[in-house]
Amino acid sequence: QSKDLELLRDKPCETLDGYRLPLWVNTGLMIDVSRSLEQGAEGVGLYRTEVPFLLRDRFPSEEEQRQIYREQLLAFAPRPVTMRTLDIGGDKALPYFPIEEDNPFLGWRGIRVTLDHPEIFGAQLRAMLKANAGLGNLRIMLPMISSVPELDEALALIYRCHAELVEEGLEGELPPIGVMVEVPSAVYQARAMAQRVDFLSVGSNDLTQYLLAVDRNNSRVADLYHSFHPAVLQALSAVVAAGRLEGKSVGICGELAGDPRGAVLLLAMGYNVLSMNATSLPKVKQALRSISYSDACVVLDEVMQMEDANQIVLQVERLLGSRG
Ligand code: PEP
Ligand code: MG
Repeated sequence: QSKDLELLRDKPCETLDGYRLPLWVNTGLMIDVSRSLEQGAEGVGLYRTEVPFLLRDRFPSEEEQRQIYREQLLAFAPRPVTMRTLDIGGDKALPYFPIEEDNPFLGWRGIRVTLDHPEIFGAQLRAMLKANAGLGNLRIMLPMISSVPELDEALALIYRCHAELVEEGLEGELPPIGVMVEVPSAVYQARAMAQRVDFLSVGSNDLTQYLLAVDRNNSRVADLYHSFHPAVLQALSAVVAAGRLEGKSVGICGELAGDPRGAVLLLAMGYNVLSMNATSLPKVKQALRSISYSDACVVLDEVMQMEDANQIVLQVERLLGSRG
């Protein structure tokens, strides 16, 4: 078994009919880095920068952040590392920055916090850009964007930070910038957003939660939380279409990408990259290597006509079962 996985590590994620789909990883802790490299990850699709913030008792300084980010970038270089700007609020509260709200998931979280605190945002951006010096594998990603003006505001701050650093003598181009599509409004604005950035990445965990109005952490409604819900699949498909029209790369970094059944549908929808936890990577690779892209497209066509998430899952399992 472990020998098989070792062999798998050095094989590409390629379907039987030769369709290549890069598999990237989600990271936060340094332990994720070694695990990811062991699994042969081709890049990092989501580095959750709030993780090092959660492990401290105060905001890390710009220099402390630079060192943390440098370590991530170095470990994967020359492979790309997508760093998401701070996504606190919701279920992730920093002990030294308490946020009290009745509806934290609909409240002050992600980009909303950092736009209200440009000094926090600026320190983080400066640290990322400095860490990237001489490497050039950084990508910056913005969480919880819900409107175009909000994106424009964040982009203006990034451009300004970069210009200031260049002024101070930093060498290095502006890295690719992307938007997380995880609020339903962003699905409908995806094309306008894609015009402004280099890539889109769907956060299917939050997108499912917000589309279905089901708290992702509430066990009482856990059986209603379904990423194979037809509405979620329609949204996922619409985001790829919007990105395509603007010629931009569209990825996904929610849990659905790490589910072999989800990966089959995402492959057929045309996602350019799937990012997942390192532990999911081998089973997703194995599943995609066992099917053909054309069969996945047939199954996608079928499930897009269906109205029940459970039936959709069964249909995909039929394809995987017949090949696995
Ligand atoms: C998501 O929402 O799908 C996502 C990848 O981000 P997080 O789980 O950190 O909210
Ligand atoms: Mg999210």
